[in-house]
Amino acid sequence: MATPHHPTGHGPVTGNQYDAPGSQVHPPAWGSSAPVTGGHGHPYPVVCRACGGRSAVDFKVRAHTGILVMMRFEHLDGPFCRDCGLAVVRQMTYRTLIIGWWGPLSLVILNPLTLVWNLVAHLKYRALAPSAPAPGRTHLDTGPPVLRRPLAYVTLIPLAWAVWVVTQIVSHST
Ligand SMILES: [Zn+2]
Repeated sequence: MATPHHPTGHGPVTGNQYDAPGSQVHPPAWGSSAPVTGGHGHPYPVVCRACGGRSAVDFKVRAHTGILVMMRFEHLDGPFCRDCGLAVVRQMTYRTLIIGWWGPLSLVILNPLTLVWNLVAHLKYRALAPSAPAPGRTHLDTGPPVLRRPLAYVTLIPLAWAVWVVTQIVSHST
């Protein structure tokens, strides 16, 4: 560890010029984010896994993508703070809106369920008090709101198709 920078011309290097390597004095570094143990009744015993923010809640965020018979279920576990949670909900909802509709089961059941789940997640994270990230860390990037992203409106195509199918079924079944 110690690299003695010794100027020339002063004789041989004697041992007492080296620092003793045994003294390891660690400053009390942040990073040992030990969860609060034993503190029963603590209102927020969890910290945000993305930024270390102090007021966080553990609620899963989901995404579903389905194209024909290929379906993929994703989820991201918390805990997240308010800002990071909303960022994750936005990202995953956006993906679900674009490529979540393109299979029969996805369109009718799985995608609507995923969106409702994420709506609940959105409400849960929005209800949290904002918390500052831990030193040296930042919140996840929230990006623009989902409905301000043009591609989100791809979702209108399968929805229109579904509405058309339902009206056809209803109007022909009487
Ligand atoms: Zn966070």
